[in-house]
Amino acid sequence: MQTNRIDFNGLWYNIQMNILMHLCCANCALYPLKTLMGRGDTVTGYWFNPNIEPLDEYNRRLSAMSQLEDRWSLEIIYNDIHDNALYKHDNSLYKDAVREITTRGGTRCEACYTVRLRHTAMKAKETGLDAFTTSLLVSPYQRHELVQEAGIEAARVHGVEFIYEDFRPGWEEGTAISRQLGLYRQNYCGCAASKQEREAERQDRREARRAARAIG
Ligand code: SF4
Repeated sequence: MQTNRIDFNGLWYNIQMNILMHLCCANCALYPLKTLMGRGDTVTGYWFNPNIEPLDEYNRRLSAMSQLEDRWSLEIIYNDIHDNALYKHDNSLYKDAVREITTRGGTRCEACYTVRLRHTAMKAKETGLDAFTTSLLVSPYQRHELVQEAGIEAARVHGVEFIYEDFRPGWEEGTAISRQLGLYRQNYCGCAASKQEREAERQDRREARRAARAIG
């Protein structure tokens, strides 16, 4: 639950929070933003997705984000870097986290979530906000439990509260809003590996259709 509730002599009060929301893309951001702002929380967006490949794709997603920022009068902090090196072992800031994850057999996605959420937690702390969260929590395509774990861990490391909420029931609603607004909708997660995987899946489907036609 993102809004703290306190019991004062038997009466419950909601405490609205100032939350920094990591924004993985405009489409995923829609439902979590709508939900938290609708409950009275103040939400600042945080764009930090440096491993989206290729650069053209990164720019399309960034531009969709700023389109949404204008349409909804959002406040967004852009950490606008396109630099896949952040996800490699030689980056000084996150090398320990990424090395630790990969050493214990963690996946690239786990490292990716960790880097993005630690950055967000650090920014929330730096800017004096109450807590942080991420739009990754809405996507049925992400490893939800790993996102949650990365958020809890980032909160521990940087000493700022992580707001966990399962936003996935709002995925369809977010998709419908995105279509109404005409936002750019990507068809793969973001990194070069996810793009290759999506292309391989498409190729497999094409071949399966061709084989089915040949049999028919
Ligand atoms: S598939 Fe998505 S979550 Fe996983 S590493 Fe690539 S960009 Fe990050």
